Amino acid sequence: MALPPRARLTIDLDALARNYHAIAHEAAGAVTAPVLKADGYGLGAGPVARRLWHEGARSFFVARLAEGEALRAALGAHQAEIFVLDGFVAGSGPRHVAAQLTPVLSSLTQVTAAASFAKGEGVVLTCGLQVDTGMNRQGLPVAAANALIQALDGLRGLDLTLVMSHLGSGAEPENPRNRAQLDAFQAVRRLFPEARASLAASAGAFLGPDFRFDMVRPGVSLFGSGPQERPDPRIAAVACLEAPILDIRSVRAGEPIGYGTSIRAAYHTRLAVIGAGYADGVIRAARRAARAWFAGDLRRIYIVDMDMTVIDLGDTPAQPGEMVELLGPHALLDDLAAAAGSIAHECLVRLGSRGDRVYLGAESPDVRN
Ligand SMILES: *Cc1c(COP(=O)(O)O)cnc(C)c1O
Repeated sequence: MALPPRARLTIDLDALARNYHAIAHEAAGAVTAPVLKADGYGLGAGPVARRLWHEGARSFFVARLAEGEALRAALGAHQAEIFVLDGFVAGSGPRHVAAQLTPVLSSLTQVTAAASFAKGEGVVLTCGLQVDTGMNRQGLPVAAANALIQALDGLRGLDLTLVMSHLGSGAEPENPRNRAQLDAFQAVRRLFPEARASLAASAGAFLGPDFRFDMVRPGVSLFGSGPQERPDPRIAAVACLEAPILDIRSVRAGEPIGYGTSIRAAYHTRLAVIGAGYADGVIRAARRAARAWFAGDLRRIYIVDMDMTVIDLGDTPAQPGEMVELLGPHALLDDLAAAAGSIAHECLVRLGSRGDRVYLGAESPDVRN
């Protein structure tokens, strides 16, 4: 007996490759170093990294030490540079060394812990340094970076390969905060003339040459989100979540749909019940404002439950088993995020929760087997 059809998450590696080159083109002159934290934004860091390596990426970022170890294993013999944004906590030294990971130090405590590990082992530890230029989240305050340089001893045993910072308002090109952070970063980078410099993530990579420095660190735009948190013709959809129609039913105008009575049919219509819900990553808050794609049109979403979503079919002919696109090349990531009052990053990382992942396109396209 055939298994019932289920939700399917497709990850288009060819679209990922196009986005990588679109960003690299935009950031020409700088190295494009993909950020693959949270298992590659929920899409599978291994296949994504191997394809990006094939496209020319040699430096990568993750958040956690364990993500770095997993990425090292996934890249196998490929000698990639892997930065760990969580930095260095006391005791983590052997794991960094074993997996050849580069911690991005973001506090004096971390600098001290890394330096004392290097001294104790008699090794030179390659590190990055994150400086807070005004986002007020992570990184050494600028004054502390200055003090560190004054006390040159603080960096003994550390080979500082990258100095970086992160923009708080990169998605708003006109926001004066970008220029303020840029000015602060330029001053900081002069303190570390030997290190490469990096300021821009996805959004920043599109802000023009001043923001590029030696390296840009895109994450979400690789996976289909426009640099200004809205659909952008330069960026293609990578993740596609589709689910089958389980059932079709009619409702009269004003009848309540699903739990509670606040959501009601706008008119006498037919509904399709789709086999994916918030357990599959469809954000519940996106109902009403989000649209699903079926038979050539965007359709209103009435409700999102744990395993089911209900959309408006109108009089469009449909059969159970036909697939509906809840996210993809038509039901766009940034539109879904806006409808949910969220951002593309959150929508993406939720997708991995249940659906079977299918990869389209090869990890190494010209390697025939
Ligand atoms: C997550 C992150 C990035 C990537 O950000 P996107 O908005 O996904 O491009 C880059 N740098 C740092 C420090 C980050 O935390």
